[in-house]
Amino acid sequence: MAHTSRISCICRGVRMISTILFEFTNSHITFQYILFKGMSLVFPEDDGLFTSSLFFPFLIFSLFLCMFIAILGNRYQRKLNKQERYFRPLYDLNPSSIIMIDPSGFIIDLNPSSEKLTQMDKEDIIGLHFTHFLPKHEQEVTKQRFEKVLAGEVVEYEVQIHNSNGDMIDVFVRNIPIVVENKIHGIYGIIMDITKEKRNMEKIHFMAYHTPLTNLPNKRKLSEDVGEILAHRIPFSLIYLDLNEFKKTNDRYGHLAGDAVLMEVAKRLREVDDQGVAYHIGGDEFAVTLPEVQHEAIEKIALGIANEISLPITYHEFTLEVFASLGIARFPFDAETIEEILQKADLAMYASKELGRGHLVFYHDTLLKKVEERFKLEQDLKEALEKREFELYYQPQFEICTGKFCGAEALLRWNHPEKGILSPDVFIHVLEETGLIVDVGEWVITEVLGWICSWTEAGYEFEHISVNLSPKHFEKHSLCRFIEEVNHEHTSCLHRLDIEITESALINLEKSIDSVRELKKLGISISLDDFGTGYSSLSVLHQLPIDCLKIDRSFIQNFNSDTKALIQMIIQMADNLNVKVVAEGIETNEQLTFLINQGCTYGQGYYFSKPLPQTEFEEKWLKGP
Ligand code: C2E
Ligand code: CA
Ligand code: CA
Repeated sequence: MAHTSRISCICRGVRMISTILFEFTNSHITFQYILFKGMSLVFPEDDGLFTSSLFFPFLIFSLFLCMFIAILGNRYQRKLNKQERYFRPLYDLNPSSIIMIDPSGFIIDLNPSSEKLTQMDKEDIIGLHFTHFLPKHEQEVTKQRFEKVLAGEVVEYEVQIHNSNGDMIDVFVRNIPIVVENKIHGIYGIIMDITKEKRNMEKIHFMAYHTPLTNLPNKRKLSEDVGEILAHRIPFSLIYLDLNEFKKTNDRYGHLAGDAVLMEVAKRLREVDDQGVAYHIGGDEFAVTLPEVQHEAIEKIALGIANEISLPITYHEFTLEVFASLGIARFPFDAETIEEILQKADLAMYASKELGRGHLVFYHDTLLKKVEERFKLEQDLKEALEKREFELYYQPQFEICTGKFCGAEALLRWNHPEKGILSPDVFIHVLEETGLIVDVGEWVITEVLGWICSWTEAGYEFEHISVNLSPKHFEKHSLCRFIEEVNHEHTSCLHRLDIEITESALINLEKSIDSVRELKKLGISISLDDFGTGYSSLSVLHQLPIDCLKIDRSFIQNFNSDTKALIQMIIQMADNLNVKVVAEGIETNEQLTFLINQGCTYGQGYYFSKPLPQTEFEEKWLKGP
């Protein structure tokens, strides 16, 4: 029995040695299993060992086998160590953080970059669950990714983690399963800090979708957002806003003032954020999308926006005012596609602009008809100049106290092939907006200069013929050169040419002042038209070499104590400045008498004569009665 227990002791010793050796070879489980399986097959019980004649040969064979395996294992281990030495720097010096996670999600190893990323020491990280670094909302989805990796997939994703200071870091993660002998023993996480790239991308994205000045989303964003809403077929309305008077503000106070206005408008629009989304389309155009299609509700919000925008804006010592024209289109009532809804809101906005300050127009089909008409008008006007359909009428002017004829104002007419003679009210704004007014103005100057020369040569007596020029002529400096070219053969006629400019031409005073001075040098006289209705202050009159003020006909035609006082004041002021005064639109004897009594020298109006075609004017007023 004592012998038996000695033998079993030896057996246990063999087992132990083999275990240690096999452990050393990293394959102990397999080999131990084989050894004991073999032992149990040969010796079903320990007691049987002792009595068996095979015991000692088996023992010696086992020892040799173990030693052989140990030597092999040692070699293998050395090879592994050598390989590890090769790969170790990849792990230690890798700028990406690399962590090793066991199958339950606990971190078991990490490289130095991981310490830098998390701002924590290795020993504090080891043993933590990987979800420790994830914000709550990312945990569940990341756990699901973890499961996929445990199933053998390589998974890549972007996620936010926080470091020990609580700073959020954007990272790109690649999770790779650690597979040894077809078994997954854990997960590698290779983690790259992409916070900088992410911020840069966000900046680029922001710039692509926002207007830099106002930081509001831009037209591209509007198109995409509208596209998205339409794709989900969610009813909504689109408000297009355009600022009236903005160009004037820009011209008068400079671009910085214009920028300040746009920024303030953007700020006010942002306040509708709880009801809709505001966009800056570009220039002075904005848009708002509302999740609302009920007429009254939209109207209420839109009027609120219009009111808000019309509140005065303080810029340095100035108080600036802008008004918004608003056009509204609704989905699905007015449009089905992005292009359609943008176009229809835009159309409605143009219609509201034509109504004047701060109006609100809902899109309706007749607007489309109006636009078509307007388009046709533009086309026809473009052809009118080539087809010589424009004509000048002349309205005589008089010394009102004597009734003596002294000159005339040339007024444009369009001899339309179907509609007959059209007055400028119908088409002049289209000429202005399309810029055609410059070509037409040049034609007017050429025509009038030609007639001035002919009439002078014919010996007719008159002081001047006035032409109306659009502010657009003063935006470029070529006006004088043009007049000189037209007139190079008849220089003596220029002193009979009078140019009427409206006060709006003087808004950008620095630009226009030079043009006016050059015109004066050519001997041309300058009249300030529609005086009293616009912007010009008295200081403008001091700076500009004006020859004549034309009192706007609205003052003459709406006689009351206020307008009378104003007329009196203009006449006195002009007298002090040694400037002539012409009263326009005199229709009645009462108006004439009042003007004579106030000391006004010149006048024109239906009381004397309507504007006449050239031949008739020539017959009636130049050749004399
Ligand atoms: P305006 O320069 O103020 O011209 C005077 C306008 O008053 C003319 O209208 C004239 O027919 C009208 N008028 C004159 N006397 C009376 C009157 O007693 N009663 C009433 N009710 N009206 C009177 P018209 O010819 O229709 O011209 C309208 C405007 O079109 C002009 O106003 C001027 O601003 C513009 N316009 C006319 N011709 C030209 C042109 O050749 N070039 C440019 N840029 N504008 C022009
Ligand atoms: Ca005029
Ligand atoms: Ca006028």
